[in-house]
Amino acid sequence: MRQRNEYTTTTNYALDWGSDSGTISRVTDGSREDAMASAHDVVERMRREGAASNIRSVRVRHWGDWDRPLYHASYYDSGQQLTDVEVYAARVHDWHVTTDVLNAHYARTNAQLRAGYGPWSNDWGTKPVECPACSAVLTD
Ligand SMILES: [Zn+2]
Repeated sequence: MRQRNEYTTTTNYALDWGSDSGTISRVTDGSREDAMASAHDVVERMRREGAASNIRSVRVRHWGDWDRPLYHASYYDSGQQLTDVEVYAARVHDWHVTTDVLNAHYARTNAQLRAGYGPWSNDWGTKPVECPACSAVLTD
C-alpha cells in the first residue's frame, strides 16, 4: 500500500530586502496527485504574475528519491516570458539578497562574521554595482 504523504512539493520564494526569514520555502506533503496539483497551482500563479512574482521555483519530489525531482519549474524558465532586463534584475537580486539578509542578522547579533556574495556567473551579464530590483549598492 502506498502511503498518503510520500510526495513533497517545495516552493522557494525570493527574499525581500529587509526581511529576516532566511531562505523562504514552503513545503507540503501529500499523495502524488496532491503534490502535482499543488505544484501546478504554484506554477500557474507564478506564470500569471510574470516578472512581479516572488516565486522562484517549485519541485515535486518523492521521499525515497529526493535528488531527482518528478517535476521542476523555475521563474527563469522561458515560459515565464521575462524580458532580458527582467531576468537580469531578478538574477542580481537573488544573488545578493540572501547574503545581505544574513549579514544584517550577523550585525544585529554583534557577530564578527560577514558573508561575501557567491560567485557571479558571466552568463548572467555584467557584474552589478547596484541592484536594478531594489537599488541596493553591491560592494564585494
Ligand atoms: Zn536587490
